[in-house]
Amino acid sequence: MDTPPPLPPSQHNPRPTPTIPRVRKGHIICPNPHCHYTGSPRKKARGSCLIGILLLCIFILPGILYFIFLGGYRYYCPACGIQTGNDT
Ligand SMILES: [Zn+2]
Repeated sequence: MDTPPPLPPSQHNPRPTPTIPRVRKGHIICPNPHCHYTGSPRKKARGSCLIGILLLCIFILPGILYFIFLGGYRYYCPACGIQTGNDT
């Protein structure tokens, strides 16, 4: 009676884990190849709130337009200072 050859033990080849950077919400990956900072960015308001209010007081429409176009924030890498994105 022929016994089947024992199957080789299934070897778990340690697959190289793909280095997909997991970014949390609100975090950035620096596009700078020399930096690669990952984390929370430095937030900077795009427009000046004071100018917007001033414009609103003097001219209603330019003030509204100012807040529409200059509202939101810009994000900078805190490590190298490169701009990484806009948030409107
Ligand atoms: Zn950077």
